[in-house]
Amino acid sequence: MTDVFGDLVGQGEAVATLRRAAASAATLLRAATLVAAGTGAPAGGGDPDGYDDLDALAEQFDEPGDPDRPGATGDPGATVPPADPTSADPGAGMTHAWIFTGPPGSGRSVAARAFAAALQCVHGTGCGRCPGCHTTLAGTHADVRLVVPEGLSIGVGEMRVLVLRAASTPSGGRWQIVIIEDADRLTEAAGNALLKAVEEPPPRTVFLLCAPSTHPDDVSVTIRSRCRVVPLRQPPAGAVAEVLVRRDGIAPDVAEWAAAAAQGHVGRARRLARDPEARQRRDAVLAVPRRLTGVGAAFDAASALIEAAEAEAAASVAEVDEAERAALQTALGAGGTGRGAAGAMRGAAGQLKDLEKRQKSRATRAQRDALDRALVDLAGFYRDALTMALRAPVAPVHTDTATLAAAGAQKWDAEGSLRRLEAVLECRAAIETNVKPRIAVEAMMLSLWRG
Ligand SMILES: [Zn+2]
Repeated sequence: MTDVFGDLVGQGEAVATLRRAAASAATLLRAATLVAAGTGAPAGGGDPDGYDDLDALAEQFDEPGDPDRPGATGDPGATVPPADPTSADPGAGMTHAWIFTGPPGSGRSVAARAFAAALQCVHGTGCGRCPGCHTTLAGTHADVRLVVPEGLSIGVGEMRVLVLRAASTPSGGRWQIVIIEDADRLTEAAGNALLKAVEEPPPRTVFLLCAPSTHPDDVSVTIRSRCRVVPLRQPPAGAVAEVLVRRDGIAPDVAEWAAAAAQGHVGRARRLARDPEARQRRDAVLAVPRRLTGVGAAFDAASALIEAAEAEAAASVAEVDEAERAALQTALGAGGTGRGAAGAMRGAAGQLKDLEKRQKSRATRAQRDALDRALVDLAGFYRDALTMALRAPVAPVHTDTATLAAAGAQKWDAEGSLRRLEAVLECRAAIETNVKPRIAVEAMMLSLWRG
């Protein structure tokens, strides 16, 4: 049987944690319903909605076991189990703030969405078929908000609006959920706005953050201290190939190749298996090592790589940009005459400027993402050369350039292969710290040529 967690590849431990939490959350909701109905009220639960403090309730109801166990709170006459903090398993219960960490492609946002669905599931733990599960996964659930930063960071304005909305009562009567993808891209001010909400959470609000790690560079220490962490690992290539075959109907040999080439990144593997243009771009990147025959060639290769990333990014944002412009023009075109038109025009100019700024920021991010994918592919090539030079018994990342990597291994030996791999990784790190991409890539190409 596949439920909402079925798409989480190779993450058994995390899935077990989330299932337990979803079961615990369902128990909490049932208890709250009983309290609201005035039956089986816990001691001191006298406030009107009977549900002011999730953590206090959680302490009373927290239990690692099956929520459907005999004598659970499903029976209106049941009494609240005595709170015993020593018997509670801290990993089992529900809490209001979570961080999903793991390398790109490990499924952080997939895990967050699946958990959100499990919390909104009308059957309690993520059946995958009910309206709660279905609308959450489709992105149309009224009480689930997804923040996907389009620019290089999430600003404080966006975060304030979000925190405010998150404080409202869930319309579906379950949880108000906010998923923040790339929480590492929060500006400091946005992080502070979020921290306030996480420190004093509205009773039914759950924050699900996704970040590469819990390193202070990614998530502030104070936010981290308020969240439960769900670490995801890089899924093994075999597990990725299996899901491509089972879920996407991709031929087993293609799936295996794509899973290896994508280095554990599920989405990338799927794209490589399906999209011929993605395969062409990868081929062009993997042709770089044999093109580096001199200084001029190194600069040419740098230009080609940058321009390919720009073209890929432009293609990916063009459609959305145009649709947004058209929508804004239609909105502004309506009611552009008569009283107040001058004020409306001034407002219009501001809105257009805002839109342009947002679109530019999104384009920059798309370019960086495209370039980063290319660098990861290139790093895979030099990693193959290194493992071959060391005669390490591991499968190559890029089976289709294995011969070329073997030639490289012979020519450069382990040391030269390692230096080249490091040059690629240094380039990625430099771009991350805002070095101009062209400068970083040119420096890398020269290092790759010189060795
Ligand atoms: Zn369901």
